[in-house]
Amino acid sequence: MTSLSDARADVLVVGSGGAGMSAAVSAREAGASVVVVTKSALGAGNTGRAQGGIQAAVGDDDTVESHYEDTFAAGHRAARPELVRRLAESGPEAIRWLESLGVAFTRDGGRLRLLRCGGASRRRLLQAGERTGAEMVKALRAAVRASGAEVWESTALADLEPEGDGWRALVAPGGNGSRRTVRARAVVLAAGGGLRGEAEALGVGSTNHPDATPEVLRLALALGAQGRELDSWQRHPTGSVWPEALAGYALPETTRAYGATLHDADGERFVDELAPRDVVAQAIIDVVAAGRGAAAPDGAPGVWLDTPAIDRLNGDGFTADRLAYVHNRYRKAGVDITRERVLVYPVLHYRNGGLAIDEDAATTLPGVFAAGEIAGGVHGANRLMGNSLLDTVVYGRRAGRGAAAVAR
Ligand SMILES: Cc1cc2nc3c(=O)[nH]c(=O)nc-3n(C[C@H](O)[C@H](O)[C@H](O)COP(=O)(O)OP(=O)(O)OC[C@H]3O[C@@H](n4cnc5c(N)ncnc54)[C@H](O)[C@@H]3O)c2cc1C
Repeated sequence: MTSLSDARADVLVVGSGGAGMSAAVSAREAGASVVVVTKSALGAGNTGRAQGGIQAAVGDDDTVESHYEDTFAAGHRAARPELVRRLAESGPEAIRWLESLGVAFTRDGGRLRLLRCGGASRRRLLQAGERTGAEMVKALRAAVRASGAEVWESTALADLEPEGDGWRALVAPGGNGSRRTVRARAVVLAAGGGLRGEAEALGVGSTNHPDATPEVLRLALALGAQGRELDSWQRHPTGSVWPEALAGYALPETTRAYGATLHDADGERFVDELAPRDVVAQAIIDVVAAGRGAAAPDGAPGVWLDTPAIDRLNGDGFTADRLAYVHNRYRKAGVDITRERVLVYPVLHYRNGGLAIDEDAATTLPGVFAAGEIAGGVHGANRLMGNSLLDTVVYGRRAGRGAAAVAR
């Protein structure tokens, strides 16, 4: 093993999705020196894959209380109420912060466009075009670069141990067997939920980025951090089954928000398409298990998502305009979703639980914070669509500020 130079910082941030980058920017704003280590390129991860949008109670008819209640109920009341409350009440400010960094949320006639998605009682989903996550990553990446945080790309956290009144991290740059040491007073773990790693171990598909492996979560648990709802995994209801080139791609929730309906092989509807994700996913699994599903040319089972219903409901050209990204992806694979239904089946998507945190994103390990998909307690046993991007910003910022305060 080659030993390269060591580094020292007030705050070490592990991972650079929405949570890690929000934490890094916030720790710098609070005056801390920051090193970010991230497995591949800055900003790579699940955040950039998010298409649907981000929830926040900013509508005229909406309230923080309603956002809280929808989130808590959808999570089967298993979440920590104070974490859910903090998420909901911080929503509008998180959106303003993202706007201040340059995220342009879609507006109609000057007013924010808001959609109602599964499990939400109000129109609460904001979008930045059709790829909200990618827009967030673009803005956050620029903010991290401008913040003066030191960024070590292609560098994975390999080990972490307490040292004095802080932490000593062993990191692996470039995957070439070399190691560097970073000493930090406080650490923010923002390495995501790692569900792709779990899916691969089970031999099933997932929507997750290749970096989404659970070694950082496991490392923290091995150090004695408390976890919660760790094995509660969410399936995305509408993973694409066919064409083969798009197998596992998740058709965004907005398809159903715009009116696409789900049908069994006989064309019968069988679920409220705007129910929470776990309800919709389970209904699809049950229909297929009962022998009422349809099958792809290779025999893979699924149910029909009636995407042509979107234009029937909203007028010709609506899909091409509002769902251009999805429309084009399918067109390239030889399917026109305005004319043909799409075969879908649930696919592994999100780890509902993770490391237990408090309202300041502190884990049970002293000086160690966690935010985003690696953390648990915010979503309970089922996450509402759009709440994860919000979680990365709300708790990422709190983690960054908390870590900077510890370092002070
Ligand atoms: C296809 C898809 C669509 C989605 N759509 C939506 C949506 O519309 N709305 C919504 O709210 N949520 C959505 N989600 C969920 C949401 O995007 C994620 O849960 C959230 O962005 C996770 O953010 P994060 O920062 O915690 O993790 P990530 O964005 O996954 O970032 C984790 C970071 O940690 C790094 N990392 C991993 N291991 C290590 C290591 N050992 N050392 C150093 N770095 C490491 C990774 O490289 C990455 O930079 C979607 C998810 C997917 C996959």
